[in-house]
Amino acid sequence: MKDLFPKKHFESWHKALEQTRKIVLATHVNPDGDAIGALMGLGPFFKKEGYEVTMISPTRYPEFLSFLDPGNEIVVYSRDNQTALHAVNQADMIVALDVSGFSRMDELGKAMQKATAFKVLMDHHTDPVTGEFDLVFSTTRISSTCELTYRVIKTWKENAVFSKDQATAFLAGIITDTNQFANSVYPGTFRVTSELVTFGADTEFIYDQIYRNFSYNRMRLMGYALQNIRLLPEYKCGYIVLTLDVLEKFGYSNGDTEGFVNLPLAIKGVSVSAFFLQRADHIKVSLRSKGDIPVNEIARKFYQGGGHLNASAGKMTDSTEDIEPLLKKALGTIIA
Ligand code: 5GP
Ligand code: MN
Repeated sequence: MKDLFPKKHFESWHKALEQTRKIVLATHVNPDGDAIGALMGLGPFFKKEGYEVTMISPTRYPEFLSFLDPGNEIVVYSRDNQTALHAVNQADMIVALDVSGFSRMDELGKAMQKATAFKVLMDHHTDPVTGEFDLVFSTTRISSTCELTYRVIKTWKENAVFSKDQATAFLAGIITDTNQFANSVYPGTFRVTSELVTFGADTEFIYDQIYRNFSYNRMRLMGYALQNIRLLPEYKCGYIVLTLDVLEKFGYSNGDTEGFVNLPLAIKGVSVSAFFLQRADHIKVSLRSKGDIPVNEIARKFYQGGGHLNASAGKMTDSTEDIEPLLKKALGTIIA
């Protein structure tokens, strides 16, 4: 498979690892399948290679991803910051996964920045904050951090072997970040998927755990969301708002709205979707698009966030009545 990065990256990687005994792997707040998949694909691999490894997530991962961490090996900073900080301060190498920079790790990121370890970035977002790292493996022309991480390891060690669990973790990241192979799919995505299945990745298990594992409450909330999609045909947009009172009525628990942002995109003629989830002190905004509509631009300019061309997020602190006017204003800048 064609190498993604120049040879000198791997020389630097190899040299740094020769002087490394303790590794910290860390990812972004509110980790998704790609984030947890990368931690659990790479972490146990390094352990098997003889390194002392700590996998850290700044905040808890949603319950539906717990199958990727059956031994509860991931240290959650918001629950146990002492263990996390100790590992960060002792580390010879820190690998940041699925983030463009340390700011996506909140408080944990600040400690990481200060640490003396050799810092590596493995990511697929735009605008990597290269100044924060000693070595950067970053490209947007790839499905996911999981695919990127797998390919970096395979270029470094051609004969690297992955366990069934590690392969399953990497594949879970590819499946979730591509929205089940609907977007950000490149030839390499299928080649890596094929190799992961050869290593025993259990596709059906992943689907059962992630897409066929919902609570009754979530299905009923989805019913509400579907019935309340609002259309803005002039902007080819469909959007959903879930307010606190609705969430309470349906017995909402964290993670129940995972994937709802994609629902309006299934409507013929809709090319942009938005999902607004009211929280105690702000409204979380998720944006998705088809083709070359850059939702990351409006995430950045209007919603204090960012992300990928077709999948971005941010927040707003205005009231729910302001949702539609602000959305129209934002869409006006990217929809012809
Ligand atoms: P989601 O809608 O799934 O929460 O987020 C979609 C994508 O937007 C994520 O994969 C991530 O890349 C990006 N994203 C989410 N929140 C932020 C943020 O606050 N800042 C930036 N720069 N990107 C974000
Ligand atoms: Mn990702």
